[in-house]
Parts: sequence; C-alpha cells; structure tokens
Amino acid sequence: MTSPDRITYDACPLCESRDISHLRTGDCSRHALYQQSVEKAGGGEANRLTPLMRWCACRACGHVFTDGYFTTEAFARLTQVVNQGQIVGADFERQRMVAARMIEKVLPFAAEGPWLDVGFGNGALLMTAQEYGFEAVGCDLRPAAVTALQAAGIEAHLSDIAQLNLPRPCQVISMADVREHMPYPQTGLAAARERLADGGVLLLSMPNSDAPAWHLLDRMNANPYWGEIEHYHNFGRERLYRLLGEMGFVPLRYGISERYRVCMEVIARKMSS
Ligand SMILES: [Zn+2]
Repeated sequence: MTSPDRITYDACPLCESRDISHLRTGDCSRHALYQQSVEKAGGGEANRLTPLMRWCACRACGHVFTDGYFTTEAFARLTQVVNQGQIVGADFERQRMVAARMIEKVLPFAAEGPWLDVGFGNGALLMTAQEYGFEAVGCDLRPAAVTALQAAGIEAHLSDIAQLNLPRPCQVISMADVREHMPYPQTGLAAARERLADGGVLLLSMPNSDAPAWHLLDRMNANPYWGEIEHYHNFGRERLYRLLGEMGFVPLRYGISERYRVCMEVIARKMSS
C-alpha cells in the first residue's frame, strides 16, 4: 500500500507503461532529513512521514522509481529541514575545488554567458561559475537557500525550472543531483531545453545504478540510495542516455562526480530542432 505522504505513480514516470513490478523496499528512518522532520513535527505519530520506500521497476523501459512522489504538504515538511551540506557557503573552500573541476569539464563546450544552476544547494557551483566569468543564476525550492544566495550577491529565484522566466537563453544549465528528485524528470529536461541557447549544454549529475560500484554496495547491503528519502528515481547511465536522446540532447562526455557516492556527471548538448 502506498503511504498517505505520496501520490502514486499509476504508470512508469518515463515511458508511461503500466507494466510495473515491485523491486524492493528501502528504509529511510535513519536518514538525517527523516529524523529532523520527525523532530520538527514534535515527534507525533500522525505527523511522521512513512519510513519505508517502495521501489518499482518498469518492465517496458527498465526504469527504477519509487511507488509515488511526495504530496505538496509532505514535501513542504521535508524542505523545512536542510541537509548540512546544502547550506549556502558550507565547506566553501573544498566545495570551490570540486565545483572548479565540474566547470573545467564544461569549458570545452561553453565558456561564457548565463549559467543556470537548478537546485543550487550550497551555492558553490554558482559562486565558482561566476568566478570563471559566467553570469550565475540559480533556482531552488528551499526558501532559506534562496535568501542566502541572494545575500551572497548572486541572482537566485524560489522556483522550479518549469516556472522560471529568464530574459535570455542560457549557455549552460546544470542539474547536479536534482533529476532524481523530480517527480517527472522529462518535465525538467524539457524546461531546460526551452531555456538553453542553440548549442547550449546541460551538466547533469546523479547516482549511476549501472556502475560496478553500485552493484558492489548492493552486494554488501550498504547501498545508501534505497533509503534516500528525497529520491524518486534510480538512473543508470544507459537509461539516462536514452532519455536524453528522447528529449533532444546529445551526450558529449561521461565522467564521475566527486560530490556524492557512486555518481556520474554527464555533459549533453541541446540538439537543434
Ligand atoms: Zn518505463
């Protein structure tokens, strides 16, 4: 049974097939965000998010996703609490180095112009992109993060990308560790495509469930992503590349991400329509 906190997917969120099987159940009760949301709710049983996550697999396209995504109300309870690493300015000197290595991967394909970071978290990528000469713009759904980035002198909007109005097209749009949080990943990719200049590039990062390291963690029963409370999807490189092609992007470069465990970092160019 689906929890009352979630809106059930009645079909695969990527290909709309209804041929879905139950894959496994994850436990997010030890996740820091889950525990903080329980504390915020005063510990009351009625206000608790369900600690179990049911994962499904689509038999048609192979996509792996949770059985539903959070209701607006449950999501609001989660966004009131913030991961330590997502506070603007957190660990900024080390994060600047990590961001610089991401930007260096983009430079062969785009070296100036507007850079929109969707779900900017601690802001390190945008602050560093600005340092490299890009016009940094961010959007995020956490009010505290938006205020903090504005205070750091960077244009920031409390919005998801689909609602964002920008005066001119972007050369770069980054979605670092946010795709797996979007109920319908195509919506975010389509919105990114609309906001990119011709020839502009996407920078995406997320866990790679095709990676040998992922399977090793599974075998050790130590894979954190089955209990990652905010994730609705587990992508592998192969399914991600197919999705990018379906959405009008050409993958240009594969790499691994230093930000989180077992993550990939992919650069893709907008195909001209
Ligand atoms: Zn599917």
